[in-house]
Amino acid sequence: MRSSRQSHRDYRSYSFWLDTVPDDLAPRPALESPLHIDVAIVGAGYTGLWTAYYLAEADPSLRIAVLEREVAGFGASGRNGGWCSPFFSADKQKLARLHGRERAVAMHRAVIDSVDEVGRVVELEGIDAQFVKGGSLSCVTQPGHLGRIQEDVEAQYQWGFTADDIRWLDADAASERIRVDGCLGAAFTPHCAALHPARLVRGLARAVERRGVEIYEHTPVTSIQPGAVTTPNGVVRADAIVRATEGYTPALPKLKRQIVPLYSLMIATEPLPESFWDTIGWSGRETLTDGRHMLVYAQRTSDDRIAIGGRGAPYHFGSQIDDLFDRDPRVFGSLREVIKSLWPQIGPFEVSHTWGGPLGVPRDWHSSVGLDKNTGIAWAGGYVGDGVSTSNLAGRTLADLIGGHDGDLLMLPWVDHHSRRWEPEPLRWVGANLALHVMTSADRAEVRTGRPARRAKLAKRLLGM
Ligand SMILES: Cc1cc2nc3c(=O)[nH]c(=O)nc-3n(C[C@H](O)[C@H](O)[C@H](O)COP(=O)(O)OP(=O)(O)OC[C@H]3O[C@@H](n4cnc5c(N)ncnc54)[C@H](O)[C@@H]3O)c2cc1C
Repeated sequence: MRSSRQSHRDYRSYSFWLDTVPDDLAPRPALESPLHIDVAIVGAGYTGLWTAYYLAEADPSLRIAVLEREVAGFGASGRNGGWCSPFFSADKQKLARLHGRERAVAMHRAVIDSVDEVGRVVELEGIDAQFVKGGSLSCVTQPGHLGRIQEDVEAQYQWGFTADDIRWLDADAASERIRVDGCLGAAFTPHCAALHPARLVRGLARAVERRGVEIYEHTPVTSIQPGAVTTPNGVVRADAIVRATEGYTPALPKLKRQIVPLYSLMIATEPLPESFWDTIGWSGRETLTDGRHMLVYAQRTSDDRIAIGGRGAPYHFGSQIDDLFDRDPRVFGSLREVIKSLWPQIGPFEVSHTWGGPLGVPRDWHSSVGLDKNTGIAWAGGYVGDGVSTSNLAGRTLADLIGGHDGDLLMLPWVDHHSRRWEPEPLRWVGANLALHVMTSADRAEVRTGRPARRAKLAKRLLGM
């Protein structure tokens, strides 16, 4: 049984993307009484919905329900930078050390392939997610970043990747794509797509409903146990249960140290005039970052804004999540400054939207997906800042695991990987914030000295990157 709650949050205010989806974000009815089904999925972000999508595709007779505390796309899936990226949270060196060279390369190749799979499904399902595969530029503007980014490109060739996967563009070639002030060159990969994240997640929700999946919104899950998921209005019994709660996971019983929610914050400008775009190019919808350690990420939106984000926000004690943490004027101010420094010709400009949200970081920065066959409980996540494409791979993998199918996806090294837990507080708070602080100071030092800062390595080791 389902009912609709009267009042709800102003979901449009949670991001530029949620503010510009062509639907009214009215919550679907909540679960009102107990259920007995085949698969219960907790969380209606990309992970939960891709899993539902591929499960329903493989076996239309399965009874699947998605249980969402707010509305589909409320979490990071409705708020991110819209990079459907070819990147995986753990680099190849780390994966090779843990799982062998061949499986490390296979993992990264599988994520690259997922970008096209997202493109295929949005086309097939008629989801107008403004998906354009224009590639991605890591543009170097500081001499201190140059060696590191060029070495990164060279290192990819040692793993069997080629210039069709990634290549160095000199300053002129980089500027032909996007004219960035003081650009010294850029690493370019053609494998990245830009998209409108909330249109994707909202469209996916409708696509899974068309396939018979039930979505219950305003339905918080208070505990997950083998065969049963508890909600305020009744227990959902299911043979398989999928935890797809990413940054929100620590709020569930016994999962406090499983993942750390780190905040990433974004701003979007008002639409910028044609005269500005004439001076900087950027006509191919490439995504853009620069070489700093505290990553910034940008896209030109389909309505001619710059949407740019970064990770300067602190970690909050006890892995707390609060709407208040989505807004940090200091971070918004520094993102404004980044825009001005990359494109000084922009002149005065208005920021129309500011927002943020939690992403999920496992202790070893190694995403994972798995199914415990003894309990029937499955999970996927820990994508750090690269969940848009990886969650699609997770959905396909979970569908194989739950459906009992064999296949190449199950050979990938993130399947059944278990990250160790984060430290208890206050160690977690001290360690995470110290590392974030050192990383920011490494960026400042590299600008000041024009040389790579050794302390960045220390910070990365402290964080487990
Ligand atoms: C500002 C920002 C920028 C980012 N930029 C990028 C990017 O450009 N490219 C990229 O690849 N990745 C990016 N990411 C990361 C990416 O958005 C995430 O990895 C991805 O969206 C994770 O999807 P998910 O479905 O696992 O989690 P979420 O989208 O967070 O979904 C989890 C859902 O579970 C629900 N939920 C939680 N607890 C419960 C409960 N107890 N009961 C019921 N429901 C519950 C939540 O309400 C939420 O809807 C960014 C993230 C942020 C925050």
